[in-house]
Amino acid sequence: MTTGSLPFATHNTRGVAPQYSRGVPELPDVAIYVERLAALTVGKPLEGMRIASPFVLRTVSPSPRELAGAVVESVARLGKRIVIGVTGERFVVIHLMIAGRLRWKARGEKVPGKVGLAAFDFPDGTLIFTEASPKKRASLHLVAGRAGLAEFDRGGQDVFAATPAEFAERVRSERHTIKRSLTDPTLFDGIGNAYSDEILHAARLSPFRMTSSLTDDEIELLRRACIDVLTLWTQRTRAEVGDGFPDKVTAFRPEMAVHGKYGQACPVCGTKVQRIVYADNEANYCPTCQTEGRLLADRSLSRLLKEDWPRTLEELEDRKAQRAGGKVAPAANTTPKARLGKNRTPK
Ligand SMILES: [Zn+2]
Repeated sequence: MTTGSLPFATHNTRGVAPQYSRGVPELPDVAIYVERLAALTVGKPLEGMRIASPFVLRTVSPSPRELAGAVVESVARLGKRIVIGVTGERFVVIHLMIAGRLRWKARGEKVPGKVGLAAFDFPDGTLIFTEASPKKRASLHLVAGRAGLAEFDRGGQDVFAATPAEFAERVRSERHTIKRSLTDPTLFDGIGNAYSDEILHAARLSPFRMTSSLTDDEIELLRRACIDVLTLWTQRTRAEVGDGFPDKVTAFRPEMAVHGKYGQACPVCGTKVQRIVYADNEANYCPTCQTEGRLLADRSLSRLLKEDWPRTLEELEDRKAQRAGGKVAPAANTTPKARLGKNRTPK
């Protein structure tokens, strides 16, 4: 009954797998990458960088050569990005996007052909950055100074740091389907397609409820589900990885309740899990637990999705935090420095 890493091969009745079917690494995955990278590299020199793909490095200055020999001071998560801070307030910013992955290999390991993007050599090993997709979306930026780094902060709220009132305010700050709002990196931090499905199932909320229609109690249920689900999966991932390195990052895990489980039984009530696919986006849900038994496949839903979602994942990821002229002012504790420094990871 496990679906392994290719669930759509068996469940996709349309014959076309959504592009993100490998899954965008989300908070639990990125948090564990960060923890393991920190354990392996902090205090050690980044001896060199080998750039294998002409597309991956998106910045000109500082150059990889300028960073060679700089000692790693921090490894942090910034939304779905991984930030390696080295001496002199310089940062290596890695965005895995959909198919980007990291591997920890023996020092000097060759960058694999075709999927290899870059290698970072440390005294005890080499971090290999790959992307198993012809669409080169994963990126590497080398940045000098905190101000430069702040440009990568999408402003998504850290659900672990937010008070219930702050969370509710953020949910209500824009009118969208809840699924869309949860996965918008300018609204919430580190939640993507997979964990939003799991969170909404845990909260027993329809992915397509409009944020404006949620009651105070429902929003609080949603907040707790965010924390519970992200904590559970971070702990699971940490336990699996141990003192190794996450090399099986996938958004499809057999223990998930609804994500990637189209046609399978809901673990709570046994109803067959349903799904809605729109462009790069997909929602999996249990009709009994989440939508009062209704199947959400009608024309009005298609229209709703069309209006509510950016057409591609890139559009959603790239959406600038230009929400109504600062309508939602960033809280004092969400400056990039504070956010990076605290790097909250569920324990
Ligand atoms: Zn159910």
